[in-house]
Amino acid sequence: MTTHTDKTCLCGSLQSYQDCCEKLHLGTIQATSPEQLMRSRFVAYALKNAKYVYQTYAQEKQAENPVIEIADFANSCRFISLSVISTDHNEETGYVEFCASYFYQNLYCQLHEKSQFIKENKLWRYLDGEIFPVTDIKVNRNDECPCGSNKKYKKCHSV
Ligand SMILES: [Zn+2]
Ligand SMILES: [Zn+2]
Repeated sequence: MTTHTDKTCLCGSLQSYQDCCEKLHLGTIQATSPEQLMRSRFVAYALKNAKYVYQTYAQEKQAENPVIEIADFANSCRFISLSVISTDHNEETGYVEFCASYFYQNLYCQLHEKSQFIKENKLWRYLDGEIFPVTDIKVNRNDECPCGSNKKYKKCHSV
């Protein structure tokens, strides 16, 4: 597996994690847009911070998304990258369409989702999303790794 030695935030902002999503994870700042919240939730998944993912669900969705299930999912995946396709918001609601890439076992998966966000107590929260189907790709050990590293899978993201 590769390690992220450069400490660039996994959300793709090109800032360091410390200057970016860590501030949201620590609660030093609050997301000012659905996109910022969504990016921080992706990084929280990648860093297996299930509590943050849970806390940033809208209240009505928390019961059906317990921390343990979020943790199980996060622990079973190797997250690669995030790209935000489009986003917009007004004062109270907004959306983010994105594509998140990750490995699950030896499958290369892409989650293409249009997520809805709402404001609760002045804080942006994730409500739900519409998922666009993307076929998972089976990766063999000698294949080029789909993460874009130009390395073979077995020398890169393979388990
Ligand atoms: Zn970030
Ligand atoms: Zn890779």
